Amino acid sequence: MSAQSDAPRSVGTVIVGAGPAGLACALELLRSGVKDVLVVEKHRFPRYKCCAGYITSKTFETYKNFGLDPEKCGYSFIEDFRLFRGAKERQKIVNKFLYTSRAIDRVDLDNAFFRLAKDSGVNIEEETEAVSVDREENVLTVRTADGSESRIKYGNLVFADGTYGPGSLLQKKRSAKRVNIAMQLIFKSDLPDGIEIRFGVSRRGYVWVSSYGGVTNVGLTDRFRRGVNYKELFENFMRLRGLTGEGGSADDLEQIRKMKAAFTPIGIRKAVVGDNIFFVGDALGACDPLTLSGLRYGLKSGSAVARSIISGSPSVIKKYAFSLRIRFAFMSLIQRVFYLRPVQFMVFNVGCRVFGGVIRSAFNRFLVSK
Ligand SMILES: Cc1cc2nc3c(=O)[nH]c(=O)nc-3n(C[C@H](O)[C@H](O)[C@H](O)COP(=O)(O)OP(=O)(O)OC[C@H]3O[C@@H](n4cnc5c(N)ncnc54)[C@H](O)[C@@H]3O)c2cc1C
Repeated sequence: MSAQSDAPRSVGTVIVGAGPAGLACALELLRSGVKDVLVVEKHRFPRYKCCAGYITSKTFETYKNFGLDPEKCGYSFIEDFRLFRGAKERQKIVNKFLYTSRAIDRVDLDNAFFRLAKDSGVNIEEETEAVSVDREENVLTVRTADGSESRIKYGNLVFADGTYGPGSLLQKKRSAKRVNIAMQLIFKSDLPDGIEIRFGVSRRGYVWVSSYGGVTNVGLTDRFRRGVNYKELFENFMRLRGLTGEGGSADDLEQIRKMKAAFTPIGIRKAVVGDNIFFVGDALGACDPLTLSGLRYGLKSGSAVARSIISGSPSVIKKYAFSLRIRFAFMSLIQRVFYLRPVQFMVFNVGCRVFGGVIRSAFNRFLVSK
């Protein structure tokens, strides 16, 4: 049963969600001397977020600018990639930009960022879930783990609550047509270290198989289509790739069923609703639709909203959102074109054979900027 206390407390800026985008916003505000900030987070840290957790060199630098060294969270430069189309290896890519942690997830990175924010003085209330917003009254209602509800009167409200958090209810572009689905399973294995990127498993997406020091992360992404049984697609891939059953892989189908899935947004949503409600990270749609790279854009949009709040002008986040809109519209177009059968044939059967150097260089140059 939920009890609600009547008098709301007042807070200058309330941020919903202590993921990278929300914490980046809080840290930037704090560093500019804005202290009346509260972050509400529905989980307790360290918390699991379904994410492969790869970071590019640019994301690496962005974290460093916030004072977090990913190397201290176990991140290191990863092995080279091998690109597959169907069962066949088509290209080896010498990696020039991507890092991952040995655990191949984001738990340690997020937890370290959370600790950094706390130690810097950011006020974070864990196990506190935002449940509703009264835009007339500027009041956010939150619920704590014991079921009790309370109200917070906000000056500014920042939604950093992911693709389908309560903030998305204030957005029009949240339909299921505008998301990628991404699912992953992490398990102990005896596979040799390395990364495979496999095309041709899902229609407009790819599969990754990354192994490091006895841990394997298998992920599948696709532009989401209703009616597709993604679990079956994933299971079939695991069987065909020999990742189930004997031999130090996902022991059995039971294990596959522990797989996690999440949606990533496609397309930039509104950055500001009314005068004082802002959106950052996945809540803004700040995730690359082709590569699923979202961490850098989450951090950067968090900073941009903080600068908008500090300057009292929404133009900073609006400008940043506009630049992302252009960039992601282009990536979305590439997503549509790249997965057409003739294009796949040209890239993998002709390009990889004849212009291997161009493909390698394009892959690194194109993705390094994410
Ligand atoms: C399978 C998968 C693989 C991915 N791989 C990569 C990758 O390798 N590299 C990369 O850069 N990006 C990757 N992404 C994208 C990346 O995960 C997101 O872009 C990124 O997490 C966005 O950060 P965020 O802070 O906006 O949201 P999140 O990290 O989702 O954080 C949102 C926070 O809000 C909290 N919250 C939600 N609702 C409420 C509520 N009602 N009240 C209070 N708190 C709430 C959540 O608990 C969470 O802590 C991947 C995504 C998926 C699904």
